[in-house]
Amino acid sequence: MGLKFEEKKCAFALCDEVFPASNSRKIFCSDRCRGRHHASVNGEEMEMIRLENNMIIANYRILKALPVGRIFLRTELYNMHYKLQYCSRCAINREAGDAVTYWCYDLGLRSTELGFELVSV
Ligand SMILES: [Zn+2]
Repeated sequence: MGLKFEEKKCAFALCDEVFPASNSRKIFCSDRCRGRHHASVNGEEMEMIRLENNMIIANYRILKALPVGRIFLRTELYNMHYKLQYCSRCAINREAGDAVTYWCYDLGLRSTELGFELVSV
């Protein structure tokens, strides 16, 4: 008379293996499936991070070619393919009428009444 376990389906999306759930914490049929599952999840995450980082770096290259202190209109930035939403950090200055500075590392665009002023740290 052997022990009876319920059956579980392997948690790796590309595996249809059903295995006896001898250990309630075990969710993969094998070490190989566990490895493949984590590699695929980490791969997608890294790809998403890489794409966002590339956008910030592309913005940084645009800023680096421009003179610090100059004010740019939103349309000028748009025409240079600058995308304000991609920045490494964003700071709000409460003393300066909630001016927002969109930083790309050491260069930033500070919102002013006339447009965005290129500033440096
Ligand atoms: Zn499996």
